[in-house]
Amino acid sequence: MAELDWSSLGFKYRQTNRIIVSCFKDGEWSQPVASDDFDFHFSAFAGVFHYANSCFEGLKAFRGVDGKVRIFRPDENAKRIQRSGSHLDMAVPSEELFLDMCVRCVKENIEFLPPYGYGASMYLRPVLIGMNPQLGIASSKEVIFAVMCAPVGTYSGAKILTPATAVIARNYDRAAPNGTGQFKLSANYATSLHPYNMAHRQGFGELLFLDPSTHTKIDEFGSSNFLAIKGNSYVTPLSDSVLPSITNKTLQAVAADFGMKVEKRAVPVEELAEFDEVNACGTAVVITPVCKVFDKQRLEDEKAVKVYEIPSGDECGKVSRKLYDRIRAIQDGREEDTHGWNLILD
Ligand SMILES: *Cc1c(COP(=O)(O)O)cnc(C)c1O
Repeated sequence: MAELDWSSLGFKYRQTNRIIVSCFKDGEWSQPVASDDFDFHFSAFAGVFHYANSCFEGLKAFRGVDGKVRIFRPDENAKRIQRSGSHLDMAVPSEELFLDMCVRCVKENIEFLPPYGYGASMYLRPVLIGMNPQLGIASSKEVIFAVMCAPVGTYSGAKILTPATAVIARNYDRAAPNGTGQFKLSANYATSLHPYNMAHRQGFGELLFLDPSTHTKIDEFGSSNFLAIKGNSYVTPLSDSVLPSITNKTLQAVAADFGMKVEKRAVPVEELAEFDEVNACGTAVVITPVCKVFDKQRLEDEKAVKVYEIPSGDECGKVSRKLYDRIRAIQDGREEDTHGWNLILD
């Protein structure tokens, strides 16, 4: 066992034993290797540095109540990185290679997998980056696919399901109309870093982006999807500039299991006044309840033009908590995985 305080891991880089690496060269992927060298060695002219030939994934492995190790829906991440990498016109790993390397990464770093009972898990971070030297604008012909990991607790080290404030910054977009918002590209993060930092400096927990064409509808948060509860409905934006979150997809299935109506549709900003519960959702913490949304014309402005107070207030909403509990129970092996979401390691 690694000497770590499992109860206060937070979400940060920690060195583990090894990363798993495969390279695409001359038309094929190399046999993956487990390396204790955490540095990549390739040209300063690599496409990743100049033209952001880069995409990534995020998924988790859990130590269950029964002692078994489960990776949650890795097949979905495999398919998503294939879509992202294909959009960059780069070679992508097969689903089999993706899954093999994720499993290997967990096994090579098993003493960093948090024990059951701390609400902690092992975060896996697959990356796909272009490495061959180039000057002209081109998609990379040679690609590195690596899977690394870190043990993580809750995102900020804060108590789980603590409501956060959010801000809408109408003068910033994370994606463009007809752009790359639906792909998990590193470039999307470069776009949102500046407003993200500013929102955090101003004390907001979350940054909420609107649709980039009209700025009238809700898209998603900086690194997580938007979902709201309204009566017996689960409401989430349908937009081609939103990243298809696997957590959102999972929550939708759970909501349907609970007999809720799942509404995937355009969500006008003003509808924030009508929701019972609002949350951000993503792999890192499953859901973050949102208590207040400040709508700013410009993020730099001192005052918001409107403030929406979500009725659930300082507590996580009841329905949201129920959805959260069900997913965490499946990940921990405490409740039956009826959808077959877990990949159980042997
Ligand atoms: C990764 C990501 C999410 C969350 O996706 P999950 O698959 O649920 O982790 C949401 N929005 C953006 C912009 C993302 O990059």
